[in-house]
Amino acid sequence: MKFSIVNGQRQEAQPSLSGKCPVCAQTMIAKCGEVNIWHWAHKGRRVCDPWWENETEWHRAWKGQFPESWQEIVHQADSGEKHIADVKTDHGWVIEFQHSYLKPEERRSRDAFYPKLAWVVNGVRRKRDSEQFRNALNRAMRDGSNARMRIPFADECAILRDWAGGNAPVFIDFGPGPTLWWILGGAPTGSVDVAPFSRSDLIEIFRGGATQKSREFEEFVNSLRKPTSRAEPQPLAQALNRTDTQPVSGVPQYRMQMRRRSRRF
Ligand SMILES: [Zn+2]
Repeated sequence: MKFSIVNGQRQEAQPSLSGKCPVCAQTMIAKCGEVNIWHWAHKGRRVCDPWWENETEWHRAWKGQFPESWQEIVHQADSGEKHIADVKTDHGWVIEFQHSYLKPEERRSRDAFYPKLAWVVNGVRRKRDSEQFRNALNRAMRDGSNARMRIPFADECAILRDWAGGNAPVFIDFGPGPTLWWILGGAPTGSVDVAPFSRSDLIEIFRGGATQKSREFEEFVNSLRKPTSRAEPQPLAQALNRTDTQPVSGVPQYRMQMRRRSRRF
């Protein structure tokens, strides 16, 4: 973990410090070696939050986009169950940055635990993922200049197979470019809809809280959860489904990056 409680204050790991775990209050030791990023670990091998995964530079870089007071927030359900959210915004969004593989059942339990959850998934952990995703985009179907694309046979792409079909929005991060890929809907074994989405817009949306952009995002996410209420007045829905020639920000760069031939119908 990045923070532990030292003398009543949240503090980052420093050599020879010890602290208390914000979840279970047991002793934590500062691990300040040369190989791994400096972090806190429970004394012994005990891990009190089974959902916690070891942090990477990738985690830290994402968390660092948000105020420290939003990072590593203990969330407790009415049942008493506690977990540490990577980031919890001042408007109640929990953002989980997922590097390692997550079993579908564990993912579902997190979807159920956090009322407003968004996932950012590391798409460069497995070498094959970006290539498979590029191939999937090559056979994607689009309508005019819509940003939204439908990928048939999504199960041929491991990262879509792993992440499609949940309740919470999922953004795949394929590396340092300006564009993330949003999994908008579909089933892991069928076709899956995706759309490019600007990394900086997403950060702005979560940081913004009460801004119009943030409200539009939340409305759009709610409309994805309830596909039966087919009212789509939201500007964000229009942006993702737009039919004019103006692409969602980040798309042209991504197209150049991927040198993709788009197939239209
Ligand atoms: Zn603990």
